[in-house]
Amino acid sequence: MIEREVLEDASALIRGSGSVVILGHQYPDGDAVGSVLGLGLMLRDLGKTVEVSWPEPFEVPGRLTFLPGLDMMVGPDKLEPEDLIVTVDCASRERLPDFNKILRGGFNVVNIDHHTDNTMFGTVNIVDKDAAATAEIVYLIHRDLGLELTEDAAVCLYTGILTDTGKFQFNNTSVETLKVASELAAAGVKPSWIYENVYQSDSLNYLLFTGDALSRCVLEEDTGLTYVFISQENLKRFGVRMSETEDLIDSLRALKTHRIAALFKELESGTIRVSMRSRNDIDIGSIARKLGGGGHKVAAGYTSSRNGFEDTLNELRREIIEAGWGTDNR
Ligand code: 5GP
Ligand code: MN
Repeated sequence: MIEREVLEDASALIRGSGSVVILGHQYPDGDAVGSVLGLGLMLRDLGKTVEVSWPEPFEVPGRLTFLPGLDMMVGPDKLEPEDLIVTVDCASRERLPDFNKILRGGFNVVNIDHHTDNTMFGTVNIVDKDAAATAEIVYLIHRDLGLELTEDAAVCLYTGILTDTGKFQFNNTSVETLKVASELAAAGVKPSWIYENVYQSDSLNYLLFTGDALSRCVLEEDTGLTYVFISQENLKRFGVRMSETEDLIDSLRALKTHRIAALFKELESGTIRVSMRSRNDIDIGSIARKLGGGGHKVAAGYTSSRNGFEDTLNELRREIIEAGWGTDNR
């Protein structure tokens, strides 16, 4: 639950601002993009000048390009906030690397998020750890903030909830989540149309890339870890962008005997990003935090400080065993 006082403070900040900059986290997912755009559209309808952004690489994942409101996007280097900053789906300032200067520039910051490890870095913090998605929070508070929901905004918010709940299948899906989804449907969202856009819009190249990636999938006995490494070479071979690979990790989770799924992604710089998911309440959020990242108990990630894939894998393996999640010490 979010306290009334907090909502009143946020509402006052919005009322008093002519322009609003809305920031999502680096490597945005459906919830970050959906929340940024959904909130942006509602604020624009209220008469505010709205710019939305996220850190480099500043691109919209292919399957989210159908969303309304993309014309509000402004690259991080061109952003010039004048008034209020709103951050969505960001647990900490570290998730906003290109914006450290403006976040410390004396502007009021409204921080809207659902991560358990949110550092409460805003002037006003609207953080609900029980919400399945930041988009769910944005919907639940929009009236308190003086905003009106349009069909376009509803499309964005529904997409955020759909993607962060794994199509309403993950255990963050609550009665409240389904209620919000039904209210968004009542506002004009067609669930099958969103599903088609998000989950049935892959290219043949992407399907072939997926087949290749899954053919390299490994399952480890001692850690219960299943993983795939995606190199720049793999992407180039199929003409696929890294931002398209967001959902590949869900295919690894289909494996009956896995306990932790990980996707190791080689960035252009050679640095490895790690995406993790777990089952049976295994707390990978704390492992990710220890390795410099963060996230939820069952969905977390980090950017590796190790050189290359092998070192990154070995480090993660050690951390899993040390944390007591290995199969041998259970
Ligand atoms: P994904 O694997 O989808 O990129 O991220 C899963 C979850 O972990 C998301 O909630 C995301 O916000 C969080 N996460 C991923 N990478 C990082 C990171 O580098 N730092 C932090 N603090 N959280 C991350
Ligand atoms: Mn989220």
